Amino acid sequence: MKAITLLGSTGSIGTQTLDIVAQYPEQFRIVGLTAGRNVTLLSQQIRQFKPEIVAICDEDKLEELQRAIADLDPQPILLAGESGVVEVAKYGDAEAVVTGIVGCAGLLPTIAAIKAGKDIALANKETLIAGGPVVNPLIEKYGVKVLPADSEHSAIFQCLQGIPAGGLRRIILTASGGSFRDLPIDKLAQVTVADALKHPNWSMGQKITIDSATLMNKGLEVIEAHYLFGMDYDDIDIVIHPQSIIHSLIELQDTSVLAQLGWPDMRLPLLYALSWPERIQTDWPQLDLVKSGDLTFREPDHEKYPCMQLAYAAGRAGGSMPAVLNAANEQAVALFLEEKITFLDIPKLIEKVCDKHQADNCETPALDDILAADKWARQEVLAGSVELGDRILSVR
Ligand code: NAD
Ligand code: MG
Repeated sequence: MKAITLLGSTGSIGTQTLDIVAQYPEQFRIVGLTAGRNVTLLSQQIRQFKPEIVAICDEDKLEELQRAIADLDPQPILLAGESGVVEVAKYGDAEAVVTGIVGCAGLLPTIAAIKAGKDIALANKETLIAGGPVVNPLIEKYGVKVLPADSEHSAIFQCLQGIPAGGLRRIILTASGGSFRDLPIDKLAQVTVADALKHPNWSMGQKITIDSATLMNKGLEVIEAHYLFGMDYDDIDIVIHPQSIIHSLIELQDTSVLAQLGWPDMRLPLLYALSWPERIQTDWPQLDLVKSGDLTFREPDHEKYPCMQLAYAAGRAGGSMPAVLNAANEQAVALFLEEKITFLDIPKLIEKVCDKHQADNCETPALDDILAADKWARQEVLAGSVELGDRILSVR
């Protein structure tokens, strides 16, 4: 039985991970859980999965959580705040930590888990994108494994099993195209938050759904692939594949191409991240190629979706630039969700902040440099959005 800790248990990744644990109680056991602020769901999860330790990030919710599980015996250790999340990440005999926190908030807990010798089932891509220059050496130093749970990176990882070192020539990331894939470019100026949150193929948290609509998600995944698989940016390509059946492909040195296929269901990459190198037999719907219908592909439209090129540029710049890109994106998406900026402002704000960081890009950043770059980029986006304020009010 594998002991696992789950960060971000109340989110999309978190609840799907717990579905797997509930379905395979012989294989997996929960040691620790953390969540942001959803006491109702977290307390249900504590009752069902009986973790030894739990943290709620919002300290104001701790008392409510204590009351909600007061009748439980034995009681889990209950902690609060960011430091509580870090404690859970490194606690006890968990072999693997599933990172289902959204955003760069996952960075310190992930580092704590690595230093405690735990393998990482990585959903929280922002952590690797912002912290790659710090996280990758730690992975090496502590000898832990990073098992990708993002569906594209899981696909690449699955295809790579058995490929000798040096055999990989190119990575081809597939993209669904997001909420606006069939919308003409001139209509993007008017789209609303509700429009952007309607993803055609996947049901996910709000932030990644907006990232999918801007295609920044794919840009972030290019950087994620660079740090996970050590590929040059010139050898990572994106192709639009609206059906989301092929989850990504690899090309080998001899031009042979391998792909991983499946219904769009995050439980599959999550299960493989937890069971690797084993394969667990499931009763999930099997892929039916006839039912899945035509599989089509097209070139990404960089004019309509400038975020992909912004991400390639930030990845190539390296150093602290990916942290700036990521933080600027997180802040811009938060402002868009609050209806304070428009959809098209997202790439504009990010580009401005990345341009401004060029002169200060720290080539080999330490953790403090990354945290400082993250903080600076958020402030810059907030300042930039104030300048946009009057125009926004006139648009709405
Ligand atoms: P979500 O918003 O549904 O859930 C986020 C979880 O993190 C929640 O439990 C929330 O309480 C917790 N959380 C939020 N802010 C926090 C903070 N500051 N500190 C501690 N905990 C906090 O998000 P999601 O869609 O599950 O995505 C999680 C991560 O997985 C993201 O990095 C995303 O890019 C990645 N991912 C998600 C999917 C998907 O299908 N949802 C697919 C691929 C990758
Ligand atoms: Mg993905």
